Amino acid sequence: MFIDAEETWIQDPVDALTILMMDTFNKTRCVVYNTLQHYRHDRLDFLKASYEAALERNFILGAKLVRGAYMEKERKRAADMGYPSPIQPDKESSDRDYNDGVKFCIDHIERVALVVASHNEYSNLYAAELMLEKGLPLDHPHIHWSQLYGMSDNITFNLAHAGASVSKYLPFGPIKDVIPYLMRRAQENTSVGGQTGRELGLISKELQRRKSQA
Ligand SMILES: Cc1cc2nc3c(=O)[nH]c(=O)nc-3n(C[C@H](O)[C@H](O)[C@H](O)COP(=O)(O)OP(=O)(O)OC[C@H]3O[C@@H](n4cnc5c(N)ncnc54)[C@H](O)[C@@H]3O)c2cc1C
Repeated sequence: MFIDAEETWIQDPVDALTILMMDTFNKTRCVVYNTLQHYRHDRLDFLKASYEAALERNFILGAKLVRGAYMEKERKRAADMGYPSPIQPDKESSDRDYNDGVKFCIDHIERVALVVASHNEYSNLYAAELMLEKGLPLDHPHIHWSQLYGMSDNITFNLAHAGASVSKYLPFGPIKDVIPYLMRRAQENTSVGGQTGRELGLISKELQRRKSQA
């Protein structure tokens, strides 16, 4: 069960409840996963603190690592209300903490069940390379990759082809609830520059391949 993360101002009770649930349900295998948004500058430390709690209480830490989807909203609220922004100063800092988080989880894979929830090519590859370097299989029960349905099939399909445990994440619900989600994806896709263009090129290539086989 993946518990999503949303705005910082509602996250503390979500974290507390999720950790309590992990302490109950994750004793012998990982059932409950928390989500950690690494565009927050405090989440790498929180990941490490959650790991310490897992050691102390003897449960498996479920950690779904994302970069985070509410950056503009977070920054605006912090500016409007006059408190320091919880968001990293730049993309490089989010990328660094995300990849360090992936490494931390893989370095402690006996106690941490990691979900690499990302469309970032480097982060996905980095996780796979770390696993292989350690001689661990890509379908290890404590690692899973996931991309949003309709996005980055090139990453999902290649991971599946390499034998990794990977899925598409499919949000569903009434149109009025789903539209803001789709708008966030549209905004993100315009900001990812080169990667989205490359993905479109790959989709056209795949369409041509399928047509030529029909
Ligand atoms: C399976 C799955 C589940 C998800 N669940 C959640 C969830 O529960 N909660 C949630 O918030 N999001 C969730 N997301 C969305 C995720 O947080 C990202 O918004 C999205 O995946 C884009 O990030 P990326 O890792 O794919 O990498 P990229 O496309 O390389 O990075 C884009 C991200 O980098 C960060 N970034 C961009 N510019 C800056 C900047 N100037 N300063 C600081 N950081 C910057 C932002 O987080 C931005 O979304 C999920 C994504 C997936 C694939």
